[in-house]
Parts: sequence; C-alpha cells; structure tokens
Amino acid sequence: MARDFLKNAEDHYDVIVIGSGLAGLTSANILARQGHRVLLLEHHYQLGGMATWFKRSGGHIFDISLHGFPVGMIKSCRKYWTPEIAESIVPLKGIRFENPQFSLRTTFTREDFTRIMTEHFGIPFQTVQRFFDTARGMNFYDDQAKTTRELFEEFFPGRSDVVRMLMEPITYANGSTLEDPAITYGIVFSNFMHKGVYTFEGGTDALVSKMRDELLKNGVDLRIRTLVEKIEVNSQRQVTGVVVNGRRIGCNAIVSNANIKSTILNLVGEQHFDKDFVDQARSVRLNNSSCQVYIALKPGEGFDESAGDLLFHSEHSGFDIEAMLSREVSSRTFSFYYPKTRPGSDRWLIVSSTNANYRDWAELSEFEYEQAKQDLIRTTLDCLETYIPDVRQKLDHVEASTPRTFEHYTRHLAGASFGTKFEGLQVSRDLPQHLGGLFHAGSVGIIMSGWLGAVNYGVIVSNDVDKYLAARPR
Ligand SMILES: Cc1cc2nc3c(=O)[nH]c(=O)nc-3n(C[C@H](O)[C@H](O)[C@H](O)COP(=O)(O)OP(=O)(O)OC[C@H]3O[C@@H](n4cnc5c(N)ncnc54)[C@H](O)[C@@H]3O)c2cc1C
Repeated sequence: MARDFLKNAEDHYDVIVIGSGLAGLTSANILARQGHRVLLLEHHYQLGGMATWFKRSGGHIFDISLHGFPVGMIKSCRKYWTPEIAESIVPLKGIRFENPQFSLRTTFTREDFTRIMTEHFGIPFQTVQRFFDTARGMNFYDDQAKTTRELFEEFFPGRSDVVRMLMEPITYANGSTLEDPAITYGIVFSNFMHKGVYTFEGGTDALVSKMRDELLKNGVDLRIRTLVEKIEVNSQRQVTGVVVNGRRIGCNAIVSNANIKSTILNLVGEQHFDKDFVDQARSVRLNNSSCQVYIALKPGEGFDESAGDLLFHSEHSGFDIEAMLSREVSSRTFSFYYPKTRPGSDRWLIVSSTNANYRDWAELSEFEYEQAKQDLIRTTLDCLETYIPDVRQKLDHVEASTPRTFEHYTRHLAGASFGTKFEGLQVSRDLPQHLGGLFHAGSVGIIMSGWLGAVNYGVIVSNDVDKYLAARPR
C-alpha cells in the first residue's frame, strides 16, 4: 500500500503553508512562533525549494543555489531563525571576472568597486560615489519607469565594460536585465555592495536541517511528498482549506510559496477572482530559468585557491542578455567549492550556472534533450580547462540540470529560477484583498527573490497573516 505522508495530520490548522522554499519555511517558522497551528506541505522529498542539494555516490554533495547572498542574511537569520544559523554565514572573498573586456578580482564591496572603477576604468571618483549613493537611495516607492539601462546611461554613457561589471553578476543572481526597473537593480546591487558576498558554511543540507529542527521545535507540522492540488474557496471568497494528496484539510489562512501565477490560475482557479485581477495575473512575466553542470573531483583531488570562489566567465563582447540565455552558452558562472565549504570533507567541487530560456529545452525530444545535456557538459569542461587544465583527469562525477529539471523539482512554471518580473510583486501583495485568507510569499518582482529576498518576504507576509488571523471573527 502507498505510504500515507499525511498520517496523523489534523483536519484543521490555523495556517497552511504550501511549499518549503526559504519564504515558505520562514513564514511557517514565524507563524508558529506567534502561536498559530501551522501545517507545512512540500511536494518534494526534501525541504528547501531551490535552496537544495543532492548527493551522488562516492560521497559527493552538490549545492544548487548556494553561490552567494548579501550580508543581510546574517541579521535575518539571527532574528527569524537562530543565532547558530546566523553564525555559520561567512564571507566569500575571491570573486573574479574573466571576459574579453577585462580580467580582474574583487571582494565585491563598494570600496573595492570604487577602486576598480576609478583606477582600472578611469571613471571620476565623484561619478562613482554619486552612482553608489543613487543606487543605495533607491526604494520601492521611487520612479518605476526608469530602466537599469537608463540608469547606466546617466552615469556611464557608452561604457559597456563598466556596465558589464556592474550588471553581469546581478543578472546571474536574479535574472534581471537592462530593461527591468532601475530600482530592482539599485536595491539588489546595494545589498551586495554593503559588505560583499556571503555563503553558508556547512552547505545547504546543514542549513535546511537546522531550519527543520527549529520548525519542529516551534511545533510546525512538516510534511514532505505532499502535493497541494487545490485551494478551496467558499462563497464569501475566503479560503477554507486545501486538497493535498487527495485529502481535504481545513484552515483559516494559507501562505502559498508556489509561483504566484500557478497559485492564482491553477491552485485557486480564475473563476474565484474578478476578471481584472485574473488579467493582471496572466500578464505577469516569468523570470528566466537556469542550467547547471555539477562537477566533482576524485576524493583528495583539488585545485588551487587562486581559482577563486565565484568566477564570472564570458567569451562574449559586452553585456548581452540574449547571449547569456542562449543554449549556445558563452557566459557562465563557476562556483568553486573547497573542503572548507563542508568542514571535515576532502572534496573539491565545481558548479557551473548559466541563465536559460525554458523554451529552448522544453520542446526537445528525449534523444535531443540527452544530446543537448551532453553538449552542455562537454563545452563546460572545455571552458573549465582554461582555469583547471587537468580537470578531465581529476573528474569523478559530472551531470547537468536544465529548466526541465527545475520545473520538475519545484513545480515552477517554465522552471522559473527567480520568480517573476517586477509586476509580479503587486499581484502578490494584492492577493489577500481579492481572496480572504490567501497570501503569497515567494520569489516575485526581482527584489523579493534570492535567498535574502525570499527570507525577508516570508517575514513580511507572515506578519500580514498574523494581523489577518487576529482580526478574524472567532
Ligand atoms: C541555479 C540557481 C542558482 C541560484 N543561486 C542563488 C544564489 O547564489 N544566491 C541567492 O540568493 N539565490 C540564488 N538563487 C535563487 C534562490 O535560490 C531562490 O530565489 C530562492 O531559494 C527561492 O525561494 P522561494 O521561497 O521563492 O521558493 P522556492 O525555492 O521556489 O520553493 C517553492 C517550493 O514550493 C513547493 N511547491 C510548489 N508548488 C507546490 C504544491 N502545489 N504543493 C506542495 N509544494 C509545492 C516547491 O516544491 C518548492 O519547494 C538561485 C536559483 C537557481 C535556480
């Protein structure tokens, strides 16, 4: 008989959280701390969403999205998780750019970028400072019509080299382009420039296991392998429960960590919303997806620390978003993982990440798909040989993931890696006004994506849910 992953689950909870990405986990934790009875439902066999990892024979552990996040994660984890989690967050110092326009290393801080922009690119100090101050001063309520392209044109006209250094890492971090609102760039870029790039020592598995312990301690009912098929709505346009693995479970409020479009259009269904809101949800653009190549070296085999931690490699001349998304990859980010990533291990691993268009992968036949993955692996290793010449001899395991992989594991439409474009944020924020008790917390609007954005959005939304529950007639 099939195992019942909802065994002993209650028939009713205060809040049901759909999905265990960092926003879903954080919302569940805060709501449970506030005293609410919380059920967290995750369709995958592992918690974490995109913040995940996988193991392969020979003792290799690959992290999927642990490449770097801003220092703000320390404060958010200390406040909304545990001091122990916050204390494992450590800086990454070795950031490199290698492309036809420049080859340089940086700590990815305002001070170091100022040095590079003035000494290497010859930009006047005052212009650099004005740019940093403008980016740092940006917030959600600013002019949303100005694009990132216009922002760069204002400060660095005609300087494709400067634009590339400022933009390429952010495009890798959240899929944003020169046509997105400048405020999304300014907010995310300034978060990084504050103190550089950070990582979680111990790996994603250690982080998620600590989060799981904390959730259990706070009384969250955690269920993996539980797919929510439907959000139930009553005639007063209020949520009343979910259907999960074929069973109905009631609740007073729901936090959906699933993609905002699939929450509205698939889990609820458009018949429960006004037409205008459905049209607004339909017009939200998804962000791009990703491909990755996971490379493990034989136990004890390594590479020199001079490889760095994060390497932005490109063979393309100038910043070009279409080239970055193309299957004919010429731009990659390499993350180099040393044994210190998981203290006590003797493993050196490399993960290559590229942004990708779902449509380039979705329509391939199984045969073409396998061929395309093999091509991706081959060209990635060819490229990596520039930095680790004997990598093919040291290789123990290599495999690739594509937008299809991300879609399969997270159920995100089109395998979207970073949620939606900017307009998705308004739809996500407005959702509870259109359907009582339904909240969304998860990657949207560029600024609310990435590890820090997802955690912080989980915090904001859990406070909204708490207020809603407190105001509800008993
Ligand atoms: C390749 C890659 C590299 C990245 N690198 C970085 C990085 O270096 N730094 C950084 O800060 N960010 C990075 N990110 C982005 C970051 O990982 C995500 O923005 C963040 O983890 C998303 O969290 P989330 O809360 O939005 O939910 P997600 O992680 O998207 O999780 C949503 C969860 O909901 C579950 N779910 C969906 N529908 C249902 C349903 N119907 N029933 C039950 N469960 C459901 C899914 O299974 C999933 O677990 C990267 C992303 C990718 C893809």
